[in-house]
Amino acid sequence: MKINPIIKINQMSKGYPIAGKTFMALKDLTISFKEGEFAGIVGPSGSGKTTLLNIIGSLDKPTEGQAIVLDQNISDLTHSQAAYLRNINIGFIFQVFNLLPVYTVYENVEFALLLQNYSSQERRKAVMESLDWVGLTSHANKKPDKLSGGESQRVAIARAMVKRPKILLADEPTANLDSENAHEILSTMKKLNKELKTTFLFSTHDEKVMDYLERTIHLRDGKIEKDIIKKK
Ligand code: ADP
Ligand code: MG
Repeated sequence: MKINPIIKINQMSKGYPIAGKTFMALKDLTISFKEGEFAGIVGPSGSGKTTLLNIIGSLDKPTEGQAIVLDQNISDLTHSQAAYLRNINIGFIFQVFNLLPVYTVYENVEFALLLQNYSSQERRKAVMESLDWVGLTSHANKKPDKLSGGESQRVAIARAMVKRPKILLADEPTANLDSENAHEILSTMKKLNKELKTTFLFSTHDEKVMDYLERTIHLRDGKIEKDIIKKK
C-alpha cells in the first residue's frame, strides 16, 4: 500500500540568523510528493534547494510550518529519532562523492550498514546486490583513487541504496560529472526508481538532469515559482 503523500510540506519557512537578523531561505512553502516520484528542485544558486533537501532529510528543522516525512513531523523529532529516520529510510547523494580513500569500493558501501544489526552474510548480500545495481561488481576491491568520477558517483549511489531507503535525496549529483557520466548516473537512478519504487528527489540546475525528471519544482528566492508535472 502506498503511503500518501510520502513527503508533505505545509506552509513551511526556514530562517537563518545572520548578524542579529533572520534571513529567510525558504518562505511559506506548501508542496507534497507521492511515493515513487522522480522529481527535482530546480533553481539558481542560493534559491534554497539544499535547505529544503536538508529539512526533508531531517538534517535540519523548519522555523515555521511543517515538514512531514514518512508520517513523521521533522520538527518533533529528537536528535536520535532524526538519526534513526535517516539511517533506515533516507539515502543521500551529494555533489562531492565523499568516499573514504583508504577503503575499497566494497567497504565504502558496507560502511553504511555497520551501524545496523546485519550479520556479515546479510551485509555481503546487500553490498553485492547494490554494486550490481550500479554496474560495479567487478570494481569491488578497488580503492576510490582508481575510479573515474562517474564510477565514484555510482559507488555513492550504491552506498546510499544499500539500506533500501524509501527516499533518496540527491543534492546536485551531476555537478562534478561530464555529460556522458551524468547521463549514465541518471539512467541508473531512474532504473532504481522504477524497479525498487524508491522516491527520488534531486536538486539541480543542470539541464541534463531536468530532461530525466518527471516533475520539476522551480524555486526562486526561497519561494515556489512553478511546479511542473511532465506528461509521461
Ligand atoms: P541552494 O542550494 O539553492 O544554492 P541554499 O539552500 O544552500 O541554496 O541557500 C539558500 C540561502 O540560504 C542562501 O542565500 C544561503 O546563503 C543561505 N544559507 C544557507 N545555509 C545557511 C546557513 N547555515 N546560515 C546562513 N545562511 C545560510
Ligand atoms: Mg545547494
